[in-house]
Amino acid sequence: MHHPTIILGAGAAGLMAAAHAGPGTLVLDHAKAPGEKIRISGGGRCNFTNLYAGPENFLSENPHFAKSALARYTQWDFIDLVARHGIAYHEKTLGQLFCDGSAKEIIAMLLAEMEAAGADLRLNAPVAEVTKSPDGFAVILQSGERLACDRLVVATGGKSIPKMGATGFAYRVADQFGLRVTETRPALVPLTFGPDVLALTKPLAGVALPARVSCNGASFDEALLFTHRGLSGPSILQISSYWHETDSIRVNLLPDRDVLGALKAARAENGRRAVGTALAELLPNRLAAAWSEAQGLSGQLANTPDTQLSGIADGLADWELTPAGSEGYRTAEVTLGGIATEGLDSRTMQAKTVPGLYFIGEAVDVTGWLGGYNFQWAWSSGWACGTAIRAA
Ligand code: FAD
Repeated sequence: MHHPTIILGAGAAGLMAAAHAGPGTLVLDHAKAPGEKIRISGGGRCNFTNLYAGPENFLSENPHFAKSALARYTQWDFIDLVARHGIAYHEKTLGQLFCDGSAKEIIAMLLAEMEAAGADLRLNAPVAEVTKSPDGFAVILQSGERLACDRLVVATGGKSIPKMGATGFAYRVADQFGLRVTETRPALVPLTFGPDVLALTKPLAGVALPARVSCNGASFDEALLFTHRGLSGPSILQISSYWHETDSIRVNLLPDRDVLGALKAARAENGRRAVGTALAELLPNRLAAAWSEAQGLSGQLANTPDTQLSGIADGLADWELTPAGSEGYRTAEVTLGGIATEGLDSRTMQAKTVPGLYFIGEAVDVTGWLGGYNFQWAWSSGWACGTAIRAA
């Protein structure tokens, strides 16, 4: 059967494109339900966008590429859509918008939009291969069934969480049509650590505090979580996108605090107190105790000269650690890198050398920070592609 447009992938980007590409569009997905990553996102509440989303919140070989789509379909457009569907939401922190109820409401909204636009969805349809045909494209399902279309949109995402159906299929299609794919890496992923770091962090599992984590020129002020596997939490997930094997990361456990001033004041107030006791006023108790023990800080404040207090403050402000690795695609929220943007038109997401072929969403070399940015890219790139197809 011939369709004007076939979209591969019923994830965030594919469903958004389907809502705009025009009647007769067919969306194919090998999963048994659409939008599975939306369903589990944000702890089941979907952090669907960010109030402050802008091109500076994305990583790409070409940081300018995402500007057009992000400016033409903004977070405010998506917030309007959510509001029109009566979905209640709230800002959790740092501009991150979550559903009050369930992420399933976002999936239902996208399906309603898609159906209203006259698009169809076919699930349990694994795509084995696509080929160029004289009148467009052929899509061959694993069952052997052959479908045809004028325009083909690849919205099959990246490689993260293979257990949920991620295949890296988009990269294969790009390769087949001569489009370059940048190096891909797991991103927004917990980092793993060796025994030296684990000796400190394991007993502290569950301790959390706001911290500043930096690597390769990027720096994030967000929560840091001690776990039995090392360090995690938003600050570590964020920095993982900037970290490469063998790089070290730097952690400031007390950003924006005058630690030296606070320790000197504590000493002036009561010099008989232990250094660890003074630290417990600045840090969570268990961390203060473990840090004092690890650094051999057993004396009283009165016997701790300025130079030593200064060393303690510096140590807390610049804890340097070298991760052993990351948990990989198994737990990564996204794939960094993807289809190189020089091969795509930034207004339409169409391949420059293959008219009628489009790539959108996570498959493209545009990767957002943690905080609703990746969905915003899916909405913006899906919209740019869908409206361009409709207008063509
Ligand atoms: P996907 O959503 O991955 O959709 C791709 C679709 O293609 C899937 O349905 C898949 O089944 C299908 N597919 C793949 N290969 C084939 C094939 N060969 N044949 C047929 N179908 C195929 N981002 C945020 O902004 N906010 C969040 O709160 C958030 N939370 C997340 C939580 C988790 C646990 C994870 C893993 C990710 C989270 N993300 C979040 C990232 C976000 O989910 C992705 O960036 C986004 O889903 C990408 O959308 P996409 O449509 O490009 O790809």
